[in-house]
Amino acid sequence: MKARLPKRLGHCSYDAASRDWVPRGQANQVPKARRHLLLTGYTHQVEKSKTGAAACKRCGEKIAKTCLRVGYPVKDHRGEYGAIVNWFHSECARLDEMMVAYAKMGDAKLKKMVLGYDAMTKEERPS
Ligand SMILES: [Zn+2]
Repeated sequence: MKARLPKRLGHCSYDAASRDWVPRGQANQVPKARRHLLLTGYTHQVEKSKTGAAACKRCGEKIAKTCLRVGYPVKDHRGEYGAIVNWFHSECARLDEMMVAYAKMGDAKLKKMVLGYDAMTKEERPS
């Protein structure tokens, strides 16, 4: 089990249409029609796993379908814009110092920084 998490890529925006993180300087690669729709200011995202296909980048175990998963972008040339999301079990994301700090600051901070958090019910949110 890795004690450290992969390095998060900062200053990314998010293309909700393609579900891609877009590194700074790559926004001009996003189709013009939806460039103005890019979501900015988020560092992480949270959602329920849709397929159960992704493995947690910390522990290597699969993240079961409908389980909560926390992700953030990392630099990777396989991504449409040079970044891909790394997913973690919500328990494994407790190693993420930024997420821990957000959680301490409360719901307003989590809503601002974590894409998808605002759309979740209180019961669904990571605790
Ligand atoms: Zn894990």
